[in-house]
Amino acid sequence: MFHLSTALPSREDILKAVEQYGYVPIEPPVGIDLFAEIERLKREKNAVLLAHYYQDADIQDIADFIGDSLGLSQKAAETDADIIVFAGVHFMAETAKILNPTKKVLIPDLNAGCSLSDSCPPEAFAAFKAKYPDHKVVSYINTSAAIKAMSDVIVTSSNAVPIVQALPKEWKLIFAPDKNLGMYVMRKTGREMILWDGVCMVHTIFSYQKVRAMRAQYPDAELIAHPECEPAILEEADFIGSTTALLNYVTRSPKRRFIVATESGILHQMRKAAPDKELIQAPAEYSCNCNTCPHMKLNTLEKIYNALLYEAPEVTLSPELIRAARLPIERMLEMSRELGLVSKG
Ligand code: SF4
Repeated sequence: MFHLSTALPSREDILKAVEQYGYVPIEPPVGIDLFAEIERLKREKNAVLLAHYYQDADIQDIADFIGDSLGLSQKAAETDADIIVFAGVHFMAETAKILNPTKKVLIPDLNAGCSLSDSCPPEAFAAFKAKYPDHKVVSYINTSAAIKAMSDVIVTSSNAVPIVQALPKEWKLIFAPDKNLGMYVMRKTGREMILWDGVCMVHTIFSYQKVRAMRAQYPDAELIAHPECEPAILEEADFIGSTTALLNYVTRSPKRRFIVATESGILHQMRKAAPDKELIQAPAEYSCNCNTCPHMKLNTLEKIYNALLYEAPEVTLSPELIRAARLPIERMLEMSRELGLVSKG
């Protein structure tokens, strides 16, 4: 994984290597304490490390703030750090850059994409949108900056239902890109929406048959699921919510055992917050770790250390794209404030 020699590479070497590999391919010095070094670099450079709940446990433990997409975008909007290191996937780092155009936003590995965001390419979406000229566009935050720029309001899984509910009743709506979340929002709000046909590769991997069998095996367990899961899993679920809502539910519920249908990274925070609860990962269709997001797991402590040390890879966007994509994100943040939806992360 590491390819460059540590013998004082020039800035040009670093940038060339990042272009080739998507991250800084230099092995940190043998024996250094990565936790201590990352802390030191954060202090020296006035940097903040934001990490999504789907990151590995060690990254969550060293982050300044851990959260879901809503909490992280709220944190990104209010930080006074000079550098934001975003341990998540590319669209999240883009969102941080859109909200902080004058700050340096770093992502440990540019290859950390998102299958859901990739399922909605800008050219195809522009053509789709053109078929419904009298519709407004509600986009899930899991989209590229280009899709955000074509949207009227952004939502996260924490606020999609109340925001769609609060939009003017006369608005006709397109929802993109997650059709499962879109169907769930339609069911909860009673509003019709035209859905883009996208899904998340992680949340659609759970097997309905195996989940049913697991429920029979553990009749006292509650099934909790993220709204990106398939409708059959959601219909079976006792509780549906964003990653933060699932965490809060496990913490507060008097129940002791839960079958969890979402990305496996959140189990770390659930175990910390509720060590007395038993958490069982919902079974996937195949015998694999398919509910582990391969994009999120591209980030490592080594890559975070390098990102801070060499200040690369940096997320850059044109000022025009930032201006256009910022409006619907600000509308979401504003509506979330009005609706009292402040994520506690
Ligand atoms: S879990 Fe799904 S939606 Fe989230 S980053 Fe991974 S692929 Fe994208």
